[in-house]
Amino acid sequence: MEDCIFCKIANGEIPSSYVYETENVYVINDIAPKAKHHMLVIPKKHYKDLTEVDNVALLAELMSVVKEVTKKIGLKEYRVMINNGKSAGQEVFHLHIHILANQ
Ligand SMILES: [Zn+2]
Repeated sequence: MEDCIFCKIANGEIPSSYVYETENVYVINDIAPKAKHHMLVIPKKHYKDLTEVDNVALLAELMSVVKEVTKKIGLKEYRVMINNGKSAGQEVFHLHIHILANQ
């Protein structure tokens, strides 16, 4: 989607603090971390938020990536959060999962 920062990162148009990726999902460090570790797990395809995703396999892949990337980094205690919609605190309207950890 044009003018979407997460689509531009997925397409390599904007640099990011890359952490990990799979075929359909990528992980970056949040540019304004709110914890010692603050990563974003993002589908490469544009979805405004969770309500737009009807692909159960993608939902499974997103959570699988949460598990893989936290294991890879050695995090055992962390918080997983999705802000879904403006009133819920969503700031970038391309679905993303926050992983926050202070260990
Ligand atoms: Zn997008």
